[in-house]
Amino acid sequence: MFNLETLVRPNIRSLKPYSSARDEFKGEANVFLDANENSLGSPLVKWYNRYPDPLQMNVKEKISFIKKIPVDQIFLGNGSDEAIDLLFRCFCEPGIDEVILFPPTYGMYEVSANINNIKLNKVPLTDTFQLDLEALEQAIKPNTKIIWICSPNNPTGNSIDREDIEMVLNNFDGLVVIDEAYINFSRQKSWLADLNDYPNLVVLQTLSKAWGLAGIRMGMAFASAAVVDYMNKVKPPYNLSQPVQELALKALDEIGQVNDMIVTLVNERQQMERLLSEMTEVEKVYPSDANFLLVKFKDATSLYAYLVAEGIVVRDRSNVEKCAGCLRITIGTPAENEKLIQAIINFNQA
Ligand SMILES: *Cc1c(COP(=O)(O)O)cnc(C)c1O
Repeated sequence: MFNLETLVRPNIRSLKPYSSARDEFKGEANVFLDANENSLGSPLVKWYNRYPDPLQMNVKEKISFIKKIPVDQIFLGNGSDEAIDLLFRCFCEPGIDEVILFPPTYGMYEVSANINNIKLNKVPLTDTFQLDLEALEQAIKPNTKIIWICSPNNPTGNSIDREDIEMVLNNFDGLVVIDEAYINFSRQKSWLADLNDYPNLVVLQTLSKAWGLAGIRMGMAFASAAVVDYMNKVKPPYNLSQPVQELALKALDEIGQVNDMIVTLVNERQQMERLLSEMTEVEKVYPSDANFLLVKFKDATSLYAYLVAEGIVVRDRSNVEKCAGCLRITIGTPAENEKLIQAIINFNQA
């Protein structure tokens, strides 16, 4: 049985969170002398002399409307990376607890685990980059607190099978985190719709990829209100700055523009998949539900160096488990993609 109160670290369960001036007084007033701000103003926009809303309610209300998830089930962080770190800090006891992840996958889970001194139990994906459920069953221990699933997965690009994730959600008593950073490029449906069926489900999304806002740093975690409460207790009080909150609010009104970019990028991905798979230099283009392709080349190392010399930088993943010979290629603008294709043709003829 899933029991959040036994899952959370005892010190976090009993933590009395920092109480900011903005937490303690929430009513209407026009003289604010409670937070030691500069009452005269700011060299920038005039209201930047004030601390921002610690719980980002305006942004959350807009996200709530778009995603159809109640405000109290939304956590906002300084990138998904903050949410990842907070989940470790809320639920995993350093030196005692463990988490499971499925390599090859996003590097931040491992780095964050190491920073927090949490033991990692790695269960490699199968050769088709799916979950190995038998190996997973063996790997789960009483002190396993979180299972990290990235879907669509980085760097492989594929989505993890729904029935397998369902199996994990139904049978694991810790948290199951599904990182959907690339969900907008996928044909698969988001796990957000299933949030209320699974008290142990946490879904991560971000403004960094499809929304085109990696520079402003805003990530989202969706979970039960109880999980979100714990994350809010532990986060730095003002983790999203006022300009970030304002920019996010503005951007969230531009769904149409974002959807147009998604259509363009997915079309480009399909075309690149076709073009690359016809090249003699290419051994395999892995199926992708994301805005990048994992491509196995005959000589990835030489090609990588050649592309760098041509001013084109892709990600060399050839030293990553199960990705031998592979480069990870982000889908660029149509002109950038054409440049890349031409460079690979030139490499082949050099
Ligand atoms: C890019 C990426 C993120 C985004 O992290 P942010 O901190 O929100 O920029 C999260 N998860 C995965 C798997 C990614 O590839």
